[in-house]
Amino acid sequence: MESQDHPNVVVQPKSAGISIILTILFGPVGLFYASVTGGLVMTVATFLLSLMTFGLAFFIMWPITIIWGAVAVSEYNSKLHNLPNTENNNHTPQKSAETEFKFNSSKDNKNASGIDYDFIDKPLRSNLEIDKTIKATLESKMKKCPMCFEEIKYLAKKCKHCQYVIDENKYNEVLKGKVLELRTKYKKENENIAHNAIKFTQKHLSSNAVNKKIKKHFKDNYEISHYLPYVGYFIIKKGDKNYLGYIHRFGEYKGIVNKESPLYTQEVKNWLEKNGIHVE
Ligand SMILES: [Zn+2]
Repeated sequence: MESQDHPNVVVQPKSAGISIILTILFGPVGLFYASVTGGLVMTVATFLLSLMTFGLAFFIMWPITIIWGAVAVSEYNSKLHNLPNTENNNHTPQKSAETEFKFNSSKDNKNASGIDYDFIDKPLRSNLEIDKTIKATLESKMKKCPMCFEEIKYLAKKCKHCQYVIDENKYNEVLKGKVLELRTKYKKENENIAHNAIKFTQKHLSSNAVNKKIKKHFKDNYEISHYLPYVGYFIIKKGDKNYLGYIHRFGEYKGIVNKESPLYTQEVKNWLEKNGIHVE
C-alpha cells in the first residue's frame, strides 16, 4: 500500500486548442502555456528580429509560435500518456516512469505494489469475443500433414498435397483440446486484467490526495464497496445509495461518474447490471 506522506500529484494534459488561441492572441508570449523554453526563445527572437527588420519578422514569427505551441502540446501529452502514474517521477520527468516501467516489467512484470502493467490497459474480453478470437486463431493456424509433412491449414480434414484424410475421431479430439486450451488461456488473461485493474484502482484510492477529495465530496459515512475489473472504477456506498467513482489513469480523482458521461461505458453498465448494483 502507498504511504500517506506521498500524496498523488495531479498532472493534467494540456489543450492544443488553448495553446492555439493563446498563440494567436499573444504570439510568442502565448507560447509559454505550451512550452516555457519555447516562450522564452520566441519572445526574445521575435523582439530582436522585429527590431532588425522594422517589424517585418513579426508577421513571420507569429505563425511559427502557433505551430510550435501545437507541436509542444502534442509532445507534452504523448509523454504524459506513456507514464503509468505520476507519483514517483513528477520531479524528474526525463528519467520518467517510462524507464522505471520498462525496468519493472523486465523483472517479473510487477512493481513493488504487485501491479502488472502489461495488463492494466487491456480491455476484458467477453465470452463472445473469446469465441471469436479462438475461431480466428484456429483459422489462421497451420499444421503439418502426418503423412507428407507439408503445411496444411489447422482446420483441414484432408491434406491438399497427398490427399491423406485425417481420422474423424482424432480430428475432433485434437480440436476440442485446442479450443479448451485457448479458452483457458483467454480466461486466465481476463483474470489478470481484472486483478491488475482492481489493484491499480486500490493503490490510487489509498493516496491522501484522492481520499481527501472523496471525503470533501461525501463528508462522512461512506465506504468503498466494490472495485470494478476496469482500471479506475469503484463504487462508493453512502446510506442506501451507490455512486460510481473513477480515478484517472494518472491517479487523479475524477469524481462521480454520471450516466451521461462517456466513462459510463457499456461494459461498466453490463458489469453493474450483472452484479445487481444500481448507481445514482
Ligand atoms: Zn499430406
